[in-house]
Amino acid sequence: MDTQAKRIMLVKYGEVALRQGNRAFYEKQIMDDIRRRIKDLHTGNIKVIREQGRFLIEDINGDLDNELILPRIQTIFGAIAFCDGIKTVARTMEAFKSIALNFFAPRLQGTSFKVHTKRADKRFPLTSNEISADLGEYLLENIPDSRVDLHNPHTVFRVEIRNNAYFYVDAVAGEGGLPYGSAGKGVLLLSGGIDSPVAGYLAARRGVGLIPVYFHSPPYVSERVTDKVNDLRRALTAYTGEIPLHTIPFTDVQLFLQENVPVEKLTIFLKRAMLYIASAIAAREKAHCLITGDAVGQVASQTLHSIAAVNSAAALPILRPLTAMDKHQIIEIARRIQTFDISIRPFEDCCTLFVAKHPENKPNTQVIERMEARLMEMGLRDLLGKATSTGDIAK
Ligand code: ATP
Ligand code: MG
Repeated sequence: MDTQAKRIMLVKYGEVALRQGNRAFYEKQIMDDIRRRIKDLHTGNIKVIREQGRFLIEDINGDLDNELILPRIQTIFGAIAFCDGIKTVARTMEAFKSIALNFFAPRLQGTSFKVHTKRADKRFPLTSNEISADLGEYLLENIPDSRVDLHNPHTVFRVEIRNNAYFYVDAVAGEGGLPYGSAGKGVLLLSGGIDSPVAGYLAARRGVGLIPVYFHSPPYVSERVTDKVNDLRRALTAYTGEIPLHTIPFTDVQLFLQENVPVEKLTIFLKRAMLYIASAIAAREKAHCLITGDAVGQVASQTLHSIAAVNSAAALPILRPLTAMDKHQIIEIARRIQTFDISIRPFEDCCTLFVAKHPENKPNTQVIERMEARLMEMGLRDLLGKATSTGDIAK
């Protein structure tokens, strides 16, 4: 019989649904993101519909290619689950049984399952429990090597009866978080290391749009590092969509500081210089925060004293999403988001060039600020301004 079954992808979103006030805004962001990511697959046939607190992706012809679509949309922040399913206008148990068997048998074979029914349309003659029981029994009889387990099933076969009927099985988990860009924008200080791409990913996952900035010191740091940072930027675009990289020429600032500050304090001054420039870019780009890959206590520059001595150079709040993490946790995320292999390529780091073997680990913020005020007069201010305005923006 013709069950008028259409293959669909169901996209569930979680936290977003709880935020009543902003709900429509969040929903639109996710919906736009889905559309953008499958745009090139559009033959005009694919529709993205918002329905009952989730999104439905369907093809007018009924033959949606979920294997093609899933990798595109799995990295959307705000989505918590993706379910491969079937939608039908047919409303008889015979049609349901035929759909369940035709489309889902391979996934129920050899496993334990249970049927869970939600009947939103109370006009349907059977209750939810009756539908589940009837369908469960039918599938058990007709799918070899399947078992029903109501308490701890391997697979939950879901049935929803609304104006249409929907069928789907357990979902592929989504990223969660909040829709990209919904929280505003932040300037990400992106080095070639392991940490800052992970920090960027974590901030983006909470809705912060990323403006990556890299401080480049040629010829002391080679162009290969620019390529590397650009590859890290590209890896992040799997989540964020296109984000241009700002490359700031940092050599003059670096040389000036090397010449004019004691070597054990150099790292602090370099970091402050980065924060001044990043803040200026943030103002220009109307961003709301800075984001760094700082962790607490890995190296001398990351003691709480050092963080304090660096902090006052920033004109905006600094998000440091990694401060609560162990290195192995950071690496685990770096691997999952595919930045790790890029980050471990050998590179020179402008912060470790010509830096003391034993940098000061308890710098005094007032002392640093007084020294810096003098340096500003001596030409640092001009160098910072020049670096900010000559940055190169590239995709
Ligand atoms: P990462 O692994 O991200 O390089 P790290 O553990 O090496 O971090 P630091 O070198 O102290 O730590 O840098 C701390 C943070 O400062 C980095 O995570 C990054 O946000 C920022 N940073 C350092 N160097 C640069 C640079 N050349 N360009 C942009 N940001 C930088
Ligand atoms: Mg580094």
